[in-house]
Amino acid sequence: YVAKESGDRYLRYREEYDSASDEQARLGAELRTALDAGQFRVYYQPVVELPNGRFRAVEALVRWEHPTRGLVAPDQFIPTAERNGLIVELGTWVLRTACAQAARWIAELGDLAPDRVSVNVSARQLNQPGFAHVVTAALTETGLSAERLIVEVTETAVFNGRRAVQTLDELRTLGVRIALDDFGTGHSSLGLLQTVPVDILKVDKSFVSNITMAGRHAVIATALIQVADGLGLTAVAEGVETAEQAAELHRLGYRLAQGYHFGRPGPNLALDLAGPH
Ligand code: C2E
Ligand code: MG
Ligand code: MG
Ligand code: MG
Repeated sequence: YVAKESGDRYLRYREEYDSASDEQARLGAELRTALDAGQFRVYYQPVVELPNGRFRAVEALVRWEHPTRGLVAPDQFIPTAERNGLIVELGTWVLRTACAQAARWIAELGDLAPDRVSVNVSARQLNQPGFAHVVTAALTETGLSAERLIVEVTETAVFNGRRAVQTLDELRTLGVRIALDDFGTGHSSLGLLQTVPVDILKVDKSFVSNITMAGRHAVIATALIQVADGLGLTAVAEGVETAEQAAELHRLGYRLAQGYHFGRPGPNLALDLAGPH
């Protein structure tokens, strides 16, 4: 009886497992079609200066404009694209689109254009052979100067690949800046800083969300800005949703922030260039 029950459980597990991998395969194939059909969009979210809200950079964030399901968030498809390898092609498309857009803003807006555009790069992309050449080609093609580009990587991406550190070095030699995304959420955030060449720490929104209540989050956010300052790195606070959080971050020494309080990701620079009021 025991054996039978565990057998049933196994079967149930198999069924769930199979339908999950079918689902993965289906989504993977759909993503391929979507890329060919031009259904992906790049949205841009402002990164602003504290306390004045002056607009400094934009982060490029991909969306899928699905013909029937509407706008699909990256969390719904990036993991699958990462697993089936499509992320390499999709990521290159995002990179070129964002660089082209940034170059266009500079041509159209001059001094009012964002200084920099930040592009998320996945583990698979970062560790592909010749990634630095992909970046060089995107810059050359679009006429954007390397100093205008930030490549955002996660701690996991840097850890899971031998090539990563060398590639980051190559990018920095070009003049591209490197940001560590979701900083503080990985297994060895501080250890990584001893060896990995970076310029910017994007302090994860989990530390920002409770920052106005004196407690652990505020202590950690304070420690992280001190680490950034001490190492000569730029800190950016992510996920700032309220004026109170912005004020507290500024008080702690943060000079750059990003979040719904300042602007949501959008298809254009629908920005109030004077900042929030
Ligand atoms: P991320 O790079 O950490 O980007 C920040 C995410 O936080 C974005 O979610 C953004 O919309 C969201 N966000 C911004 N401000 C706030 C706020 O005030 N509150 C809250 N709760 N959220 C805020 P999004 O656009 O859904 O992207 C999710 C993740 O998907 C990104 O996290 C990034 O890891 C990944 N991603 C997005 N675009 C790309 C891409 O082109 N390539 C790769 N490889 N990954 C991407
Ligand atoms: Mg990011
Ligand atoms: Mg982040
Ligand atoms: Mg994230």
